[in-house]
Amino acid sequence: MPPSPVLRSSLEREIARLRPAVETLSRALHRRAELSLEEFESARLLTRFLKREGFKIRRGAGGLRTAFIARKRLGRGGARVAFLAEYDALPGLGHACGHNLIGAASAGAGAALARALRGMPGEIVIVGTPAEETIGGKVLMTERGVFRGIDCALMFHPSTENRVYTTSLACHSLQVTFHGRSAHAVSSPEKGINALDALIRLFIDLHRLRHRLPREVRMPGVIIEGGKRANIVPDRAVGRFTLRARDLPTLSRVERRFREAVRAAARGTGAGSSIRSLDHPYAEMVTNRVLADLFKKELRRLGRRTVDAPRKKMGSLDMGNVSQVVPSIHPYVAIAPHSVPLHSRDFARLAGGPRGRAGLRVATRSLAMVGMEVMSDHDTLQRARREFDAFRKGVSRSRG
Ligand SMILES: [Zn+2]
Repeated sequence: MPPSPVLRSSLEREIARLRPAVETLSRALHRRAELSLEEFESARLLTRFLKREGFKIRRGAGGLRTAFIARKRLGRGGARVAFLAEYDALPGLGHACGHNLIGAASAGAGAALARALRGMPGEIVIVGTPAEETIGGKVLMTERGVFRGIDCALMFHPSTENRVYTTSLACHSLQVTFHGRSAHAVSSPEKGINALDALIRLFIDLHRLRHRLPREVRMPGVIIEGGKRANIVPDRAVGRFTLRARDLPTLSRVERRFREAVRAAARGTGAGSSIRSLDHPYAEMVTNRVLADLFKKELRRLGRRTVDAPRKKMGSLDMGNVSQVVPSIHPYVAIAPHSVPLHSRDFARLAGGPRGRAGLRVATRSLAMVGMEVMSDHDTLQRARREFDAFRKGVSRSRG
């Protein structure tokens, strides 16, 4: 059964009581605007707030110094619900992705829920996930088992629209090095092996390959080293590429073709080749529809209409990896008009102003309500779980 009106209004009351502290938290994070993996003070601001609310804090979760886990057990048994907090900013722009609002909303939602459900079964966990903008903290934290034992993972992200069914692309960055042999490029080029030729050939081959791969596949690359002087045959050429595909199985097929193309370019020019992984692969975001529907219902209650049509342009999210191991949502809440792009100075300004605050209120309340539904209604959690299990089964089938 969904939570009773009494429970709902008790949660509303706690959210209202905590609102000033949550807004102060958001403002303080906005002012700090610390870069990825340097978010020490931001993590401290969040954990100080949570500690006051009776959470047990563990810093350095998943081997990341600015990560943390804050737990509060309410009563025996029950669901373990995680709210994910981001808090890194961008160089020169401050909180131009609005992560100050994510940190404050997740901490606020978890704290309000813990107050409202005191003594009831379950545990509330706030996971501080740093470095979303660079290494993708959640990718590493997922790999290192931080989300083991969690029943569902909830967060929101500020945006220019309200959208709950989030998708993102799987992605992997690779560095390719071709090894040749230097020689005088004018008097005895035949004695050399031109590594740059191999790299240029790879670019041309990839361009051709694109037409034989799924439409959404992207393989942009740059040359970061291509020789020193025009009169020396380059003995070393280095390129960096980011492969993107609809999902992890497609991505691994694309990566196989990419590696074949590297070998072919090496063979064709007589160069040697090596490939280095620059990050852990980002998985596609799998939005749990049961949870997303609940979030959407809460947005509606607050007069926010959602865009449900599939997104045309997509990037990658480190939440994608979490969504592969735990039923998850990563909905968007509008804090800016469409004309203001994320990662801009204007977006940073809005994230610290009244529009950001309005988004923060909507997100905190909606996250807390979804958390309450999951913790107080066993059937909801079961349905979310069943949907997730069906997805996992599909993944293992596609792996054969
Ligand atoms: Zn972001």
